[in-house]
Amino acid sequence: MSSSSSAIPVTPAVAGQACYLSASNAQAWQAVYQSVDAYTRGQVAAVVSDSATALVDAFYSTLLSDAEAGPRLSHEIVSTRLSSAMKGWLKGLLCVRDQGDIAALMAAQKKVGEVHARVHIPIHLVMAGARILKNEIALRLRASDLDGMAASVATQYVCNLFDLAIEQMSRAFMRDVNRGARNDEAYRLFALGQNISTERERQRAALLEWSQAVLIGLHYRAPEQVLPRLAASEFGLWLHHKGGVLFESAPALRQIMEAVARLDDVVLPGLMRSAEGQGAMPDLVRELQELVARIKHLLNGLFDMVAEIESGSDPLTNVLNRRFLPSVIGREIAIATRQHSAFSVLLLDIDHFKSINDQYGHSGGDQVLRQFAEVVHQACRSSDFVFRYGGEEFLVVLVDTGPEAAMLVAQKLGAEIRRHAFSVSEAANLKITASIGVASFDGHPDYAYLIERADKALYRAKQAGRDQAVPA
Ligand code: GH3
Ligand code: MG
Ligand code: MG
Repeated sequence: MSSSSSAIPVTPAVAGQACYLSASNAQAWQAVYQSVDAYTRGQVAAVVSDSATALVDAFYSTLLSDAEAGPRLSHEIVSTRLSSAMKGWLKGLLCVRDQGDIAALMAAQKKVGEVHARVHIPIHLVMAGARILKNEIALRLRASDLDGMAASVATQYVCNLFDLAIEQMSRAFMRDVNRGARNDEAYRLFALGQNISTERERQRAALLEWSQAVLIGLHYRAPEQVLPRLAASEFGLWLHHKGGVLFESAPALRQIMEAVARLDDVVLPGLMRSAEGQGAMPDLVRELQELVARIKHLLNGLFDMVAEIESGSDPLTNVLNRRFLPSVIGREIAIATRQHSAFSVLLLDIDHFKSINDQYGHSGGDQVLRQFAEVVHQACRSSDFVFRYGGEEFLVVLVDTGPEAAMLVAQKLGAEIRRHAFSVSEAANLKITASIGVASFDGHPDYAYLIERADKALYRAKQAGRDQAVPA
């Protein structure tokens, strides 16, 4: 017998698929349809039509028993709506005989992707579902009238169709998820734009009001009257509905939620019991006060953080903070890739900064940092971006600047720093130097890789004796 691999009939249409890589191209779909003959397509269609109910049942029973997917698909919804939609989808994909239907088929996949984005069904779950269906269909094809080779070709055809469908869904899914993320961010910025300092005061007052209501209620409440829960108070409702938008997933927000839960579930019931003569009231009142103080403290930190993010600038030095670094460099990478242009980053680290802190104290160090940022800022063009990267590290994005020009800028900047007379309260002519790592965009799409190269160059500048610029 001849070797089986050379005997597998790869029709030109299948091999040609690579030319139409994108599922958004109707020719990619056509190539798959034409990769098998009408008889095989008919067999696949027959298998799917005959066993559509069994296939959908197998699909849902597997997914329902899955820890992640199960909770998303309640039995009732599945039986009434999703099962028939799924059957329709399956038949639409695998029972098409007329290639004129391809446009509608592509539009249908896009629509499914959009629905998944709205109801938050992640792509990996869709792929897991498709795997179940592919396997179920392959088993049935093997048991059908098709012989071994024909069943294998038919299975390949089915897999290709599923993959195209998922590819098309994913495109629509990602586009909508991104759009949703942008809207969420826009809403967050809108929420941030509402006066933050007024909000801070209002929420502090609301929290205080609640704790007073509890203490007063403890003395004057009628028997059986329950104390007001914090979660249901104005503060609690604000925290739940708006705090989440404002503070996103900050760990302090979770800590506040935990403190609220402790107050509502442990402290309040304890206080009510102690008012009826069971348990030690003073301990519970103390815990109440401690938890309220803790919430106030955490809330303050969150509002400080938001105020800083709102401006996008570092409060000490007034240059950009790191938050927008990925967006800025990401955008520059996109521009440079599209226009075949250049850009570079400089990573600066002040030499022996610890000794400045040691000599002039932390606030002296802070003054130097402010002046240093100013020197860097002045030395750059208005089109460049200056970030405070870390404690005494700064990162400059030089737009439209290639490796040679970037080295010249870095050397000039190093000279400016060397020349500048820094001053702290006790000293007027303080001299400092900085080491600089220089890296230019080399086509790599990951911004972190560019910074890493600048960081390595900076390390070499330090190793080579500091006060110098070193290219990556
Ligand atoms: P090197 O030449 O190797 O860079 O020496 P260095 O002393 O600068 O060492 P390193 O970069 O490790 O230390 C940086 C110091 O900067 C440590 C930290 O205490 C100080 N620092 C970081 N952030 C601030 C800040 O906001 N204010 C002040 N005053 N000091 C800071
Ligand atoms: Mg450092
Ligand atoms: Mg340093």
